[in-house]
Amino acid sequence: MNPFEVELAHRLATVQEQGLYRQLRRVDAVRGVRLRMGGGTVINFSGNDYLGLTQHPRLRQAAQQAVARYGAGAGAARLLSGSLRAHHDLESALAAFLGTESALAFSSGYATALGTLSALVQRDDVVVLDKRIHACWVDAARLCGARLRVFRHNDLNDLERILKWARAQSQAGVLIVTESVFSMDGDSAPLRHMVALKEQYGAWLLVDEAHALGAFGPQGRGLAAALGVGDRIEIRMGTLGKALGAAGGFIAGSRTLIELLIQRARSFLFSTAPVPAAAAAALEGVRLVQSAEGEGRRHLLQARARQCLRAGLPVPAILSTDAAADSAEAWGAIIPLVLGQEDRALAAAATLHRRGLFLPAIRYPTVGRGAARLRISLSAAHSAEDVEKLVDALASVWPTAAAAVRVS
Ligand SMILES: *Cc1c(COP(=O)(O)O)cnc(C)c1O
Repeated sequence: MNPFEVELAHRLATVQEQGLYRQLRRVDAVRGVRLRMGGGTVINFSGNDYLGLTQHPRLRQAAQQAVARYGAGAGAARLLSGSLRAHHDLESALAAFLGTESALAFSSGYATALGTLSALVQRDDVVVLDKRIHACWVDAARLCGARLRVFRHNDLNDLERILKWARAQSQAGVLIVTESVFSMDGDSAPLRHMVALKEQYGAWLLVDEAHALGAFGPQGRGLAAALGVGDRIEIRMGTLGKALGAAGGFIAGSRTLIELLIQRARSFLFSTAPVPAAAAAALEGVRLVQSAEGEGRRHLLQARARQCLRAGLPVPAILSTDAAADSAEAWGAIIPLVLGQEDRALAAAATLHRRGLFLPAIRYPTVGRGAARLRISLSAAHSAEDVEKLVDALASVWPTAAAAVRVS
């Protein structure tokens, strides 16, 4: 081996020793929540396709029609020649969906985060992140060069402490970033209180609704809409690859915000436009989640979540922290089973895989060290029998479920 290979092999060995080694698992075919892998079929409990829209005939058809009309790729960045009608139609639909003046699509949620923070904040500003925020915002905050502060997860007192400190730094602009439903814990942010706080301290608020759009809120408009604070949030971010069933990310907000992003967001300026098939499928996803069928799928998702709750699994309550009288409580679709040690989570995942259930161990750096877990992710495409199978299999790796199974 040459010195380059030796060095890299050494680094890989370190990853392995820590129980943090990751492997790609090849999926040969997808049918609903069933995956063909390694010669067998497993039920997927690890995706973010909360409503099963990735497999929906209408999204498939929209993608195919876009390919026929525009071709396989957009051919250029939007400001060069790639600003296709598919992108404009998607953005109009997203703005209407969230009730904002405007919206801007990016090729991924990750690119959305990187481009948006750098466009909005500068070196002397302060970016305040929830401790459990998705990695893309940590990277974006580092890239933009602003001062970075982290508050304890969902802790309003800790957030206020930082806002007080920031106010004392003369002229610093302050941007708070949170998720509405958190990707690895499945719990939700106290958005009403956060909106009140940021207004009190003159800060801006950015809310990432990656795991809420489509799945929660009136017509799937997410948590901010459910709590009636959508129009008080400066920057609303969403992804198109989860409940919406396609791919991409976007920002929704005022016309001025979007105009500024078009000038300044480098991941927008210097990147080829989203493939037209993805934009067209996402548009169909946005339409679908607002339809009666979308509502039906959200009901199914809730039924599966309640099934897990009855089985003793720690299903997070959504909208409970500051629920309004008019917003019905909902149960989360992400259920974290925190097992602690990395090898314990790996062993549990392997046990489940042998029983035909696919949910890989989630480890550092996706979650904290020693907070390794199985992350159950429910979909409207799961049947009651699928969930029953999961609950039965969990009895051997998750004591609470074991107890519940014995009782029932
Ligand atoms: C998935 C995710 C992203 C990134 O979106 P991609 O489109 O997958 O790049 C951003 N934020 C959160 C909370 C996510 O879960």
